[in-house]
Amino acid sequence: MKNNIISLAQSLIQRPSISPKDEGCQQLIADRLAAVGFNIEWLPFGDTLNMWATHGTENGIDEPCIAFAGHTDVVPTGDESQWTYPPFSAEIVDGVLYGRGAADMKGSLAALVVAAETFVKENPNHKGKIGLLITSDEEAAAKDGTVKVVETLMQRGEAVHYCVVGEPSSAKQFGDIIKNGRRGSITADLCIEGIQGHVAYPHLAENPVHTSLGFLTELTTYQWDNGNEFFPATSLQIANIKAGTGSNNVIPGELYVQFNLRYCTEVSDEIIKAKVAEMLQKYGLKHRISWNLSGKPFLAGNGKLVQAAVQAVEKVANITPKLDTGGGTSDGRFIALMGTEVVEFGPMNTTIHKVNECVAVDELAKCGEIYQEILKKLL
Ligand SMILES: [Zn+2]
Repeated sequence: MKNNIISLAQSLIQRPSISPKDEGCQQLIADRLAAVGFNIEWLPFGDTLNMWATHGTENGIDEPCIAFAGHTDVVPTGDESQWTYPPFSAEIVDGVLYGRGAADMKGSLAALVVAAETFVKENPNHKGKIGLLITSDEEAAAKDGTVKVVETLMQRGEAVHYCVVGEPSSAKQFGDIIKNGRRGSITADLCIEGIQGHVAYPHLAENPVHTSLGFLTELTTYQWDNGNEFFPATSLQIANIKAGTGSNNVIPGELYVQFNLRYCTEVSDEIIKAKVAEMLQKYGLKHRISWNLSGKPFLAGNGKLVQAAVQAVEKVANITPKLDTGGGTSDGRFIALMGTEVVEFGPMNTTIHKVNECVAVDELAKCGEIYQEILKKLL
């Protein structure tokens, strides 16, 4: 299995699939999976290529559908002359595979594919269903990728009970972290309206900076919740704030504030919006506000998939992983909309999106064993 994983990872890295390009990566994967009996369905949307490959039949939670999810796109290389080995050469030096996407996430994608392929070869009549959900747009807009495939599956009433996303989750040591949920993320663009005027005639104007100060203090010190067993407390940060014309004698007519919340399952986007509206009303602020929800929080807690993943990591990597919900958003947020138990597990994430991105080939081999072990436990 190890050699298969490494050679597939190299072939994927050699295709310069900068988001949302795929550059033939998915065809390569489809050919391999079709050869062992997977059904391949192409779901392109806009400039994004998506693939849903399945094997077997799902029949409720006892014969579940378990999906492996990943992306073929990578972030740009930046200045290529900064790289010790060219970013699409996929060179292996001293047991380390170098290249853009090596860690995020063509290496673990290869491990997911080979694990599924090997499992199906060894167990052609396995119970339940295995699905691979692969997209070429995770790193950029993420508008036509996993989210659209999930919509399609939901419209068809196709169940996905469990999902392993191969994103690099290990932080200090291989296998130390399994992500069993993610916080939600929501952004507000708020304009506090005042009346522009001359600073020498304040009675003829209304300064929105002054009228907002009480509100902003309350907004930034309000305790939303105390977190819970799986999540840290919800936090709010002002990301941008702007007022004034640049002149020292003009009272600004408007104050623009953009703030973002990373929130846990103790609150909801509805609760957040209502509370902010209440604060704005309390301070009598005339305003316009618009909200952008990038992802609701999701939590696999300590369910069957989480337990299977923990045991698999313990067996293969000889370490007990910590469950963690930190970090930014991933495509797991879309898959969780189906009521799916989602975990993320993959190699070290220390070099992702950096120059000289790399991954240890031993980690990829172990990822393959861990993914296969999870299939054995759940199917
Ligand atoms: Zn990624």
